[in-house]
Formats: sequence, structure tokens, C-alpha cells
Amino acid sequence: MPAAALPSASGSSLLSFAADNPYFQAGFGLLGVGAAMTVARTGSIWGATVLRRRMLVSLEIDNRDRAYDWFLAWMAHRSNGAASSASRSAPWIRSHELSVETMIERRPNGSSSVFFQLVAGPGTHWFKYKGAWMQVKRERETRSMMGGQQTGMSVPWETVTLTTLSRDRGLFPDLLAEARDLGMQGQEGKLVIHTAWGIEWRPFGKPRRKRPLQSVVLEPNMAETIEADIKSFLARRQWYADRGIPYRRGYLLHGPPGSGKTSFIQALAGSLSYDICLLNLSERGLADDKLNHLLSNAPERSFVLIEDVDAAFNKRVQTSADGFGFPLLSRVLKIILRSRYQSSVTFSGFLNAIDGVASGEERIIFMTTNHVEHLDPALIRPGRVDLSVLVDNASPLQARTLFERFYGGGTNTEINPDDLKILAQDLQDLVEEKMKSGQRVSMAALQGHFIRNPPREAVAGSSELFKA
Ligand code: ADP
Repeated sequence: MPAAALPSASGSSLLSFAADNPYFQAGFGLLGVGAAMTVARTGSIWGATVLRRRMLVSLEIDNRDRAYDWFLAWMAHRSNGAASSASRSAPWIRSHELSVETMIERRPNGSSSVFFQLVAGPGTHWFKYKGAWMQVKRERETRSMMGGQQTGMSVPWETVTLTTLSRDRGLFPDLLAEARDLGMQGQEGKLVIHTAWGIEWRPFGKPRRKRPLQSVVLEPNMAETIEADIKSFLARRQWYADRGIPYRRGYLLHGPPGSGKTSFIQALAGSLSYDICLLNLSERGLADDKLNHLLSNAPERSFVLIEDVDAAFNKRVQTSADGFGFPLLSRVLKIILRSRYQSSVTFSGFLNAIDGVASGEERIIFMTTNHVEHLDPALIRPGRVDLSVLVDNASPLQARTLFERFYGGGTNTEINPDDLKILAQDLQDLVEEKMKSGQRVSMAALQGHFIRNPPREAVAGSSELFKA
């Protein structure tokens, strides 16, 4: 072996050994390539980040915001090729991941319709808006839930992130405004009903057609009194603020079922262009803190409607074991019943929730009950209930008016106006007569009877409807 090939202690001979040795050369070569690649990769990540930061702009919308649903609906609308011609936008593309959103509309007569809407599912989608490309990333975070697990109504946390070139950032407001207008379009002239979803209010079903206020026939002046009261309340915001009085008003409509309490509240909300937030105090999982949150966060311009307000606190009173002198058994039964079927809203928690409102914030609560006598006096004192109205079974005049509205009018050719008047008078007399012997009929029963019968038969057969 030549002497030069032998490794020596000196540096120059080490270098020359490395330079001549093919294994070393290959090793150094690989090392160099690896290092260069790492630098290049890091550089490209860094470069991409810088590029992203400088050239792209993102907008995040989470599902607590109303814009979230509007945006998804807007995308779905575009996907059907319904993009507005004004924006000359193409439908969104490259979306193989779709989600379905089901909406159920329940009508007052109990029937319902189901609608499906295909929206962009979790994943990445692209679309072009006013000439600019936008990326939409819909992400779902299943570990954190919105709404609290105990309610059984929690929904995953979701976000959509819109990304586009920095120079096109000005399009975001336009896009959101378009989505909002589309979302609100279906609500114009309609009544929106919200229900509690965990700790949030969400629109329930499709907006309903408003019911004309005059279609609910109450005792003379009753509707006008309630309407005037609420209008004067709405006009006095400053008056309340100046005196530091909480800006709230409570109404209680009580009376037998089917007398028009709910119908009237809905019609009134519609006539004032208010929404309704339907609160069910007996809902399982509803607790004091959640109730407080819901009442403090009702959407603007909405009535909170609590139906059958007596039922939530009344069920706790009696169990059959009470009457047999088994106090322990009775207590155990109550605990089991309460935990299985009831919300955990306490009466004092409920009172606190309706009292606790920061002055300046508007709050209008409507409560209904069929049993005003079951209500605790603490609930119906002024400040909680400012106007309490008995909406009773049909009075003679109400029955007559309902009859005339139902069968009268230009389109009804079944009966001439003179005969209609005579029949209406007969019905009025009948109701008066029955009332003398303590018999009444509900407006709902009369309405159902009119739907099933032509006018003459309706009056002739109405006698059977009365109950003591
Ligand atoms: P309540 O809330 O008093 O139980 P609803 O408002 O739910 O009664 O009425 C049930 C049905 O009866 C509705 O379809 C409504 O149209 C009809 N109805 C009840 N009362 C009246 C009324 N005073 N005028 C017109 N329709 C009524």
C-alpha cells in the first residue's frame, strides 16, 4: 500500500485522505444535499408564511355568529347556480364534501314540512366572487361543544375561514352583506320564532307568515289595550333610562285553553315586526344559570314567550305518596321525578332571571297560563307582570264576530249577507243563553266547528260544543 494512502496525524494528510476516498466523498455529498434541502424546505415554509402573511388575508366566522348560517346558505344558493347576475359570479366549485341541513317547519294545526339544504361540508372549497378566487375552509372541532353537554343539545364548535388575496380584502364586506340580505330576505314580512339551543337562541324552522292582528277576535278593546301599552312602553326608553329603571315589561295572558292567547301574542309580535323567543321552562337540562343567560341574550326586537308558566313549578308539588302519609317515599319519588322529567330551574332562579336586566336593555316577556290561581303571587307582582289580562272562552259578541269573519267577505257566495246576519245573531243569542246556565265554548272549538261545517249547519250544530 502506498505511503500517501495511509492516514497520518497531520491535517493536510486527513484532507487529502478524505478527498481521495470515494466513501467519504459520497458521505459528504449526501450530507450537503440533506443540509441544502433542509435549508430550502425551511426557507420555502418561511417564504410561504411570509407570502401568505403579505399577500393573503383570511376572515374567520364561527358558528356562534349569525353570519355563519347566512354564509353557508349563501354558498348553497350559489351552488345551485343562483348567483346574482349583478355579481356575475360562478357557482362554487370543487366541493365534494357536502353537508345536509334539515329544517322542519311546524304549522299551528300540527302539520309540518321538511326542507333540505345542501351546504359546504367540513373541508376545503373554492369559489370565485366578483373575479377573485376565494378559499373556504370549514372546520369542525368535536372536542369542544357549544351549548353544554348536560342539555343534550350541544353542537360542535365550527368555523369557516375565507382566504383571498390581500388586494381583494375589500370584497369581504360585500360578500357578507350579500349573504345577510339573502338570509334576511326570507324573513321580510314574516314572523321568526327562536328556540333555545343550549345557551343560544336559534331560529326554529322557516319564518312564518304573519297573522293579521284582527284575525284574533278578543273582547272589545282588549287587543287595543295591550297594543297601546306595549307601544307606549317602546316609546319611553329614554324615560326609563333617565330614572335608572330597568327597561322591561311583563305581560300575563291567562284563561282557558283555545281562547287565543298564543295566537294573539304571535300576531302582535308580527304587527310590531318583533321576533318571538319561545322559552320552555320545563325543558330537561335547563338550569338557573342557563335561563339567566338566555333571558339576558335574547335577540334584539323580540318578545320572550313563556307558555304555561304554571306548569314548570307546579309539577313539583304533589305525588300520590303524599296523601298516604309516607313522607320519605314521597320525597324520594319527587327527587326521581324531578331528575328524570324536569328542568332544574328553581322558582327563585326564575324570578332572578326575569328581574336581572341591566337598565337600558329592552326586555319584553309574555307569559301565558291556563291556571292563574296556581301562580305564586311573587311572580305576578308589578315589575314582573305589569299587565295581566284574562282571555276567556267565547263571549256572545266574540262568537258572532268570529262567525261573520269566517263566513262573510267578498269571496263567500254560500250565503247572502242578510241571512249571514240572522245566523250570526242566532249564534250570539245561543252563547248568551248557554252562559246563563254556566256553559261555555272555546274560540278554538268554534273555529274547528266552522271549518267542518257550512254556515247554517254550523249554527244549528253548535249547541253540542258547550261545556259546563
Ligand atoms: P291558547 O293559547 O289560548 O290556548 P291558541 O292561540 O293556541 O289558544 O288558539 C288555538 C287555535 O284556536 C288557533 O288556531 C287559533 O286560530 C284559534 N283561536 C283561539 N282563540 C281565538 C280567537 N280569540 N280568535 C281567533 N281564533 C282563535
